[in-house]
Amino acid sequence: MGRHYLKVSKTWCMERQIEFPSILRSSLINHFLLLVKMNPLLPVIDAGRPTQLVQPFAKRIADEAQPMIRQAIHQLQINVGKLCNQTCVHCHVEAGPTKRRENMDEHTADRIVELSRQCDSLQVVDITGGAPEMNPNFKRLVLEFRSRGIRVIDRCNLTILRQPGYEWVAPFLVENQVNVVASLPCYLEDNVDLQRGDGVFSASIEALRQLNDLGYGSDERLKLDLVFNPTGTGLPPDQASLQADYKRELNEHYSIVFNELLTITNIPIKRFAMYLAKRNKLEDYFRTLEAGFNATAANSVMCRSLLSISWDGQVYDCDFNQMIDMPAITEHGRPTIWTIESFDELNHRPINTADHCYGCTAGAGSSCGGALT
Ligand code: SF4
Ligand code: SF4
Repeated sequence: MGRHYLKVSKTWCMERQIEFPSILRSSLINHFLLLVKMNPLLPVIDAGRPTQLVQPFAKRIADEAQPMIRQAIHQLQINVGKLCNQTCVHCHVEAGPTKRRENMDEHTADRIVELSRQCDSLQVVDITGGAPEMNPNFKRLVLEFRSRGIRVIDRCNLTILRQPGYEWVAPFLVENQVNVVASLPCYLEDNVDLQRGDGVFSASIEALRQLNDLGYGSDERLKLDLVFNPTGTGLPPDQASLQADYKRELNEHYSIVFNELLTITNIPIKRFAMYLAKRNKLEDYFRTLEAGFNATAANSVMCRSLLSISWDGQVYDCDFNQMIDMPAITEHGRPTIWTIESFDELNHRPINTADHCYGCTAGAGSSCGGALT
């Protein structure tokens, strides 16, 4: 009864984009503490400490793969904040409509641009969130990087394109030839709505049609990629064959075209770890990831050539480490965009890993660009 009341109240607040009352927030914190009591692994995972469930990831790498050392930075992932119009169950960012405080300001965006101008190896800027388009600095970042010929990815949740006030997004993306990478965890409505919320599938289909009408998916300058992540607790299926299924189903039923399907493994941290813990599947999931360890994938994980910057300018090895506040490693301690002189300072440095990293090395491997092998 109490939980039902909390759920309804939070939805009510989110729909109206107002802060969730603190008295109810403290009830939710109590609910989280209860979960921790039920599964003491949750705080261990979110602190990046050894889970004792699997062989420590660092040991597995030392035995079977190349050392986890960053090479030249090809990709910068900028997480502009947690504000989002959705609240998906698998969300490792724990984003949502009430997360207004944790969002990048202009000063921080300016410093990232300044540092990036000295990084000659930079080829791709991946802007993520939350819903990145909801951040006031989104346009400025896109314009800056596109003017320098750098490929820009907008990690778009699709439904934002159908929100009142965001009608400018699709034409802006076209004008700047931004690579849209959009989440669509299934081509079946029920599966998508289960993971991402009621009505998300139909709004996503409308958004995809809008992008197709503007040339996305058919004009070679307007690349539209879809992201699949499992709705349950398994690893993603083979990327190529799932892409063929997606292309066939979306074309036959909705006349939608797209370029590539990227399959991404759910990383067992934060909201997804809680989701697993509630179902008593957390331990099994870690063991599944460990059993699927693939040394070839480990040698290609994205953190070997990527840096991830948070909304407040902290520097991490990837977006997942960012979400559990496991910072990149430097000689001078925790790096921020204010304490480093250039991104290249992070080259040839060890990457900070923990057991959740098995999520990137299981099966065909996983990265923000899809399977690795
Ligand atoms: S759309 Fe993306 S950022 Fe927003 S809640 Fe869902 S997974 Fe998280
Ligand atoms: S989670 Fe993946 S990308 Fe991040 S540090 Fe671990 S292996 Fe690298």
